[in-house]
Amino acid sequence: MFAEVAIKVPLFRTFDYAIPEHCTVTVGCRVKVPFGNRKLVAVVLAIKSHTEVPENKLKKIVQVLDSSPILSPEHIKFLRFTAQYYAHPLGETLFTALPAALREGEHPDKTTVATFSLTQKGKQLPTLRAKKQQALLKQLSESGESSLTELKALGFSKQQINALLDKQLIKEQIKHDIQWQSQVLNIASKPKLNEEQATACSAINQQADFRCFLLEGVTGSGKTEVYLQSLERVLHNGLQALVLVPEIGLTPQTVNRFRRRFPDTPIDLWHSNLTDNERLHTWRRSEKGSCALVIGTRSSIFLPFKNLGMIIVDEEHDGSFKQQEGLRYHARDLAAYRCANQEKPLILGTATPALETLHKAISGKYQLLTLSQRAQTTTDNQFLLVDMKGQSEQFGFSANTLKHIEATLKRAKQVMVFLNRRGYAPTLLCHECGWLSQCNHCSASSTYHKAMSRLVCHHCGQQSFVPPQCPDCGSTQIMPAGLGTEQLESFLSERFPDTPISRIDRDTTRKKGALEDALADINQGGARILVGTQMLAKGHHFADVSLVVILDVDSGLYSSDFRATEHMAQLITQVAGRAGRSGEAGRVLLQTHFPEHPLLQDLVNNGYQDFARYALKEREEALLPPYSHLAILRAQATNAQLVFDFLTDLVPATPYCGIQLLGPIPAPMERMAGKYRYQLHIQASERVVLHNYIAQLMAYISEHKLANRVRWSIDIDPMDT
Ligand code: ADP
Ligand code: ZN
Ligand code: ZN
Repeated sequence: MFAEVAIKVPLFRTFDYAIPEHCTVTVGCRVKVPFGNRKLVAVVLAIKSHTEVPENKLKKIVQVLDSSPILSPEHIKFLRFTAQYYAHPLGETLFTALPAALREGEHPDKTTVATFSLTQKGKQLPTLRAKKQQALLKQLSESGESSLTELKALGFSKQQINALLDKQLIKEQIKHDIQWQSQVLNIASKPKLNEEQATACSAINQQADFRCFLLEGVTGSGKTEVYLQSLERVLHNGLQALVLVPEIGLTPQTVNRFRRRFPDTPIDLWHSNLTDNERLHTWRRSEKGSCALVIGTRSSIFLPFKNLGMIIVDEEHDGSFKQQEGLRYHARDLAAYRCANQEKPLILGTATPALETLHKAISGKYQLLTLSQRAQTTTDNQFLLVDMKGQSEQFGFSANTLKHIEATLKRAKQVMVFLNRRGYAPTLLCHECGWLSQCNHCSASSTYHKAMSRLVCHHCGQQSFVPPQCPDCGSTQIMPAGLGTEQLESFLSERFPDTPISRIDRDTTRKKGALEDALADINQGGARILVGTQMLAKGHHFADVSLVVILDVDSGLYSSDFRATEHMAQLITQVAGRAGRSGEAGRVLLQTHFPEHPLLQDLVNNGYQDFARYALKEREEALLPPYSHLAILRAQATNAQLVFDFLTDLVPATPYCGIQLLGPIPAPMERMAGKYRYQLHIQASERVVLHNYIAQLMAYISEHKLANRVRWSIDIDPMDT
């Protein structure tokens, strides 16, 4: 007998091995096989009685790693679909989906995970002198239980945990599997749904079969409440559910809210901060059915749930659901496949649906459910377009904007200032000769970070010292040009000297727990001005913000990326959603040189819903996605000519029916980390035509003599174009 196996190699094929006589091998088990001069872990895909491999070439399985399958036939089918859809080698796809411990051949049940929870004494929440220890008690009283990794991600240290263990306020225990399916579902107190929420919930509940729902509702309209109450039926029936969230949304508030609502239900987390053991543990628990709910980021879409009853994708428009390297999958789109295949409901929730999703809702493929009102306030935000034409500006602020900030601070409200560029200034400029601080390896400038006194390339990470003199002309007149969040912070702290300011961007939140600390501080009323990049725009709740200022609206209006306006509108709407939660109507100031731009006008006067429908019309006229289907073949190498020749050779002399090819064209950043980058855009109005063509192209490339000399990749449904 022979086993057909998948191995983690970049080849579009599987491999046959002989099964030694005394061994039992089943589909979905891992085995070790000789490959070249190595022994690799492989996954068995099929058992067959004959093979094409000649006897003298045929090798034998050397070890069977699993006595029972780690992948069910159903899950293998899902991963096969993924590989095929994204034109990625099956072996690499399978191994991307598996947690590291299983990839390396570890036993699936090798590990246990400990969690911390309050003791009886701890539940009385005694007052402690150490602030952090007090915060730790509070966290555990809200979450019920948390693992070490979770606590560390929130910025708590082992010492603080040990201190509470010593005081017998908390205890550590091994997470046990409980038979939650046969218990009565315990639901903590919950609000009565408003009419729209109730309509949404009953629509979702009525559908026993697959139905995909787009839950369109502004921030604060009660989408999470709809998720929670829709989950009741799923959990009650003993089925599992997956809640996909963007990376940044994994703030303790969200997770605690689920845990508080379903106090006796095992809820696991899945995100990039987990250790390999914890990943394995959650993977295994989802497979055995011992966890009821997983709240996770992108890659949790590959968890092998035993009995999946529902998937929820929160902030479905968020770009973090698309993986940008290796297997370039979109977790939301795979969720749609999984739900359709298993005839289970899918809820996509957002205030600002991706145009692709909205298109499916409008065309009737998805059911549209709308929450039009904020659950707790009824006030609407007010948008103001600040015309910057001919205006003098101070560090990017118009005089008018500064007046608004001042007035808001006087009323003791919070102000949020938003600029999507971190660092002090995007470049340094020589006043004498016009020299710019270019990165040596990229076609981009190096960003000036004043506090670090370094130049940092945001594309390749290269750092260098700030030259005391211009490298070209020797002048000492080198100055920052353009604005970054660091500079805004320093200007605002001079302009409003008594006002505490908090800056939130990748630089200030690099340390574990730093973001959580800053957010907690903001919510306790500490900082009055918040300056930040798009990190600020996502899912955080700020009670007191009543003015939002967006400085660089124009960068989104005129861009080569056809999705730029959509993303700008999403950002504006999401950021605006942070204002006016305190009961008072919020104000959103948009500084722009193009106040009469039709899309901007539509957005501020009629809101995202209207904007999006108008933007869809534009896409339709231009035959852009979702009205056509796109793939990008990217290639890069140190030698530009090689890349160009490779891509040029892929363009057929006679056009392929139903396929439009564009390129080779330079990538938006033509040179990065020393490599020249070109791309080929492949477009089709029919999805099957696109996929058939790509399959042929992959076969052609795998035989191509230049394919090993350049780095190439295929991106189906690309997000950056
Ligand atoms: P979203 O997920 O759309 O941002 P949430 O579900 O978080 O909205 O709701 C916003 C706030 O309103 C939360 O504090 C939530 O507890 C509250 N809320 C939601 N639905 C209701 C309701 N039906 N009655 C009372 N409060 C509600
Ligand atoms: Zn100079
Ligand atoms: Zn660089």
